[in-house]
Amino acid sequence: EPVLELQDVAKRYPKGQGMVDALQGVTLRIERGEHVALVGPSGAGKSTLLYLMGLMDAPTAGRLKLLGRDTTGLSDAERSRLRGRTVGFVFQSFNLLPHLSAWRNVALPLRYAGVSRKERRARALEMLARVGLAERAEHMPSELSGGQEQRVAIARALVIRPQLLLADEPTGNLDSDTGARILELLEAVHARGATLVTVTHSAEVAARAQRTVQLRNGRVWSDTRAGAPEARG
Ligand code: ADP
Ligand code: ADP
Repeated sequence: EPVLELQDVAKRYPKGQGMVDALQGVTLRIERGEHVALVGPSGAGKSTLLYLMGLMDAPTAGRLKLLGRDTTGLSDAERSRLRGRTVGFVFQSFNLLPHLSAWRNVALPLRYAGVSRKERRARALEMLARVGLAERAEHMPSELSGGQEQRVAIARALVIRPQLLLADEPTGNLDSDTGARILELLEAVHARGATLVTVTHSAEVAARAQRTVQLRNGRVWSDTRAGAPEARG
């Protein structure tokens, strides 16, 4: 069964007196273990689509199934609960809570999963070690470099052992060397079995994915697998 199944998904936002169609007629299947790059010009709907995939918002129309579960009609609380057990999300701007140390930021998602306090700390420290930040556990976000902050954010996304990892321009705010190390980290997570969807502006990043979905004007413009002829949608 696919990780994500979108059928005719649309998203409209109110804008001024009218509405803007951020997504229209998006039909996509993402299989377990895929690494998908989501590309397209600014305003094409990439972030909107990633947010829908992560259940941070609901489509205006159409169906979205996550891990076989139809999410149509779920309440915000039900979507949060489902997301909290299955999806890790990495933001361009890291989104760390500034008043919490690195390990407390990483441990945050485990609170909602009902993990005991002692185990939360142990798992957060273990995850920080995996991203190479064991010795920064007690540091505050303001004491870390951008690359270190993003590694903390990745550790936070991974601590729940997500089946689906979503990343919104994860290297957009980093210099290219630091960005390359973040990409290696995400690829290592993918290699261990997670499904990875990355929004990117970078052709270099997209080239490392096995599949590239291009959005334009809120629609799927192309969907290409490495080594396969392009299919237009
Ligand atoms: P991308 O990530 O490809 O740059 P977005 O998904 O951010 O595109 O935006 C797609 C369209 O939806 C744009 O026209 C944008 O202005 C609009 N949009 C995105 N988020 C909102 C929102 N919260 N409220 C109103 N309009 C939005
Ligand atoms: P909210 O209540 O605003 O949804 P939470 O209290 O659940 O946020 O989480 C606090 C912060 O931890 C959020 O800003 C979010 O960025 C981050 N977070 C929570 N769960 C995850 C996750 N599975 N992957 C990545 N970041 C997460």
